[in-house]
Amino acid sequence: MRTPATQKNKTPLHVEIDNQSGFCFGVVRAIRQAEEELETNGTIYSLGDIVHNDLEVDRLNNKGMKTIDHSDLEEISEGTVFFRAHGEPPESYQKIKEKGLRLIDATCPVVLKLQEKVRNAYQEMLKCNGQVAIFGKIGHAEVKGLSGQTHHEAIILEKEEDVRLIDPNRPVVLFSQTTKSPVVFKNIAEAIQRRAMAGVEIKINDTICRQVSNRAPHLQVFARKHDMVVFVGGAKSSNARSLFEACIAVNPRTHFISSPNDLQELWFQPKPKSVGVCGATSTPGWLMETVAEKIRAL
Ligand code: SF4
Repeated sequence: MRTPATQKNKTPLHVEIDNQSGFCFGVVRAIRQAEEELETNGTIYSLGDIVHNDLEVDRLNNKGMKTIDHSDLEEISEGTVFFRAHGEPPESYQKIKEKGLRLIDATCPVVLKLQEKVRNAYQEMLKCNGQVAIFGKIGHAEVKGLSGQTHHEAIILEKEEDVRLIDPNRPVVLFSQTTKSPVVFKNIAEAIQRRAMAGVEIKINDTICRQVSNRAPHLQVFARKHDMVVFVGGAKSSNARSLFEACIAVNPRTHFISSPNDLQELWFQPKPKSVGVCGATSTPGWLMETVAEKIRAL
């Protein structure tokens, strides 16, 4: 971006980076595992984007990571496959085994634990003709991994109205994808309880990860503190979109960017006293630093 002549030699903008934005520990751990492997062995095949951020994926691709999808797996006959933090269903493990490929499993330990709980609940529900329900996004990698623990028989609830998919006469165990909204989860749980016939057993498991669930209220406090907010997030990240919405709801002078090149000079007229830079759980710290530096240089 060109430096506006009118702002030269003036006091630099006060820019603060939100210290709670950025990767959760599961993603940090996965990226560290990928980098260690890339340094020692050169190439890995990541099954799906390691994180929903194109610039971070590009950075790791430049070090030798190749992102593949499940159909590409058929073509690979040797090498190391990498499972990202979201986890995978049992059939992906089976495929790696059948093909004799090496596996680095970077599934987040919190997700692995949740997979185990879903698997156990499914076995319990088989005994009493019950149902496993998961609040999550259809097609999301983590949800596929969870649903796989039930031979994909789990009922996926994307919104409160979807509780109509549950049979009110049969027991239900409810779980949540780790990154969903606690408020919507509570509404869904209450709707299931309201609809259930008297005496039908309902088990509610709030499995939302606290690494991310507290971010929206925290970001709203951060966004209110600043004259202007620059939210850095990947265009494909649903977490980025919802956290951006939380910021703009309390500070209308909030702008969404995916790269430092997206910054626009006119946003800084009139010049704000302070600018907050924040991001999603998939936004790398180095990217927020680069954005902050670019704003300071205006
Ligand atoms: S959000 Fe929580 S469960 Fe999901 S990868 Fe991050 S730390 Fe793990």
